[in-house]
Parts: sequence; structure tokens; C-alpha cells
Amino acid sequence: MSGKEKPNLKWEELSFGYIKPDFNIRYHYANGAWDEGKLVEDDIINMHIAAPCLHYGQEVFEGMKAFETKDKKIVVFRPDQNAKRMQLSCDRLYIPQISEEMFLDAVQKVVRANERFVPPYGTGASLYIRPLVIGTGARIGVGPADEYDFIILVTPVGPYYKGGFKPVEALIVEQFDRAAPQGIGNIKTGANYAAGLAGDQFAKKKGFPVVLYLDSKEHKYIDEFGTSNFISIKGDTYLTPQSDSILASIINDSLGVLAVDMGLKLERRPVPITELSELDEVGAVGTAAVITPVSKIHHGEKVYVFGDGETPGQNITKLYNKLLAVQYGECEDAHNWLFEIK
Ligand SMILES: *Cc1c(COP(=O)(O)O)cnc(C)c1O
Repeated sequence: MSGKEKPNLKWEELSFGYIKPDFNIRYHYANGAWDEGKLVEDDIINMHIAAPCLHYGQEVFEGMKAFETKDKKIVVFRPDQNAKRMQLSCDRLYIPQISEEMFLDAVQKVVRANERFVPPYGTGASLYIRPLVIGTGARIGVGPADEYDFIILVTPVGPYYKGGFKPVEALIVEQFDRAAPQGIGNIKTGANYAAGLAGDQFAKKKGFPVVLYLDSKEHKYIDEFGTSNFISIKGDTYLTPQSDSILASIINDSLGVLAVDMGLKLERRPVPITELSELDEVGAVGTAAVITPVSKIHHGEKVYVFGDGETPGQNITKLYNKLLAVQYGECEDAHNWLFEIK
């Protein structure tokens, strides 16, 4: 054990990179059962060169954050939801189930073991938690693996907005699709990121940090951004797309609840691109940034502008501040979203 002393890190300046903590936790599945799991110091894995995760993409992952709250507790934001979503992902890819209890116990153990890497309250930083399940064991024919590894790694990450809460411009990319209509866009797996890499790089080369994907069947409706859900404010309504090929974001779900608390209406339905001109505020949402305000969306020659095109909208700003206040324990956890690490 490495003791309780905090490492000497510049918490406020950390990027969304990787800093080696004290431990990761690993469970192995063989002969039809998961083992008891163990904390490991080494952050290298040794696996068979014929592991199906390497060849055929049999892998799923999750992402969460742990925070030190104002009253010095360590909490994780809604990990029960990540556990449930990972079960859906595992199911779709023929990966053996991990119970919610086992998942939460693993989160509890790995965060506690790395307590000194949880950034201090007030720095805006957090401990990123990345569970993954990979199909291992030797196999060359296509099919589900015989063995699996469930690993949770953690690493401290800095505040997302170092230069303030600033909007970005997004690009609708039509020459690449991210997820097929009955494919795997609704589960959290690396394959969706492989499919999105080309669109992502295309947009980045043109100077856009964020890509917006349309539904792959008709290119008529908004699906989601490359790595985050699409949310918008239209009048007095929080509007977010309904689609079978997008990932059900836990931050989107939470913001929808807070929006209703704030007196907004909540609508989840297909959103045609033609409706973009009627939206007042747009945001890209997910665990990493919570909300990235989007001031403009470029689609071919067309540019949709939200608000004044420069400053984040007031509802989106309010939602962002409110969610962060819950995560850092600065207000009442009215919906019981915080899971305490003891
Ligand atoms: C992880 C992810 C999100 C965000 O989900 P959260 O649960 O809010 O972090 C959105 N879209 C995609 C494609 C993702 O992989």
C-alpha cells in the first residue's frame, strides 16, 4: 500500500490523459464463473495473441467519475446506472453478465484503494473510472470468447473547462455513419469509436472539435455527437433525440430530471435536422465534460446559430452548474445520485 498521502500533482492542470494510480482491479472469467477479483499495481495486461477482443472487437466499456465533496466524502455519480448499461452492452455482445452488486463492489474497492488520487475538493478535478470487459482466451474462429477479463482502471483528470465554460462549433458529417440502424450504436463498445474515427478526424482537420451524426438510414434526424448526446432547449422544453442507434447517456438522463425540476418540459423524440433552426440552445453531454455548449452547427453551406452564437445559453449554463453542484456535494442530492465510497 502506498499510504494516504496525496501525490504531488497539479490537479487543476491535469488533462484527460493517464496518470498511473496505485491500483487497478481485475476479475477473470473462466469455466462459466467470475473469480473473486484482485487489486493489481501493474497497469500492463498480458493476453493471448488470439484473444477475440483483439480480432473481433468483443469488448465493452463504461465511464464514470468520483469526486471529493465539499464535506470531504468521496462519491461516485450514479454508478448503478453504469452497471445496468454495461449489462445491456454485455448482453448484445454475448459477454457473460456482471451483476450490479459485483460492479458496484469493484468500483468501491478500486476507488478506495486509490483514495489518495481522488483530486481535492475545489480543484475542479475528479477521478475518472473506466471499467472494461474484454473477450480473452485463445480462439481464431469467430464466436464469443471462452474467457473474459473485467478490469477497472482509474486515473485523475483535470477540470474540463480550464479556460471557462466556452461553446464550440460542430460539423454534421454525412460521408461517414457512426452506427447502423439495428447495429450497436446503443451500447458502449469500442467498435462505435472505430466507426467514428474517420468522421472525427475529418471534422478536426476542418477545425471543428465536435462531429454531429445523423441517423444512418435516412440522414434526416439528429442522432448524437461522436462521443456525447445531443440536447437542446426549445422555448420552455428540454428536447433530446429518441433513436435506437444512440447511447443512452446517464448525464443526459440526469440533466432531463434537473430540467423538469427547473420547470422545463421534457421531450424525447426524433428531431429532424430541419428543426435545428428552431432551437434556442444546444449542448453535447456526457461524463467527461458534463455539457459542452454548442454555438453553431455547420451542415454543408448552411450554418445554424444558437443564441448569440458566442455565449452559452442561460438554461444550459444553469443545468451545468446544477449538475456540478450535485456532484461536488454543494447542494442537496435530491435524487439520490451519489454513491459514497466508504
Ligand atoms: C459514453 C457515451 C456518451 C455519454 O454517456 P454518459 O453516460 O453521459 O457519460 C454518449 N455517447 C456515446 C457514444 C458514448 O459512448
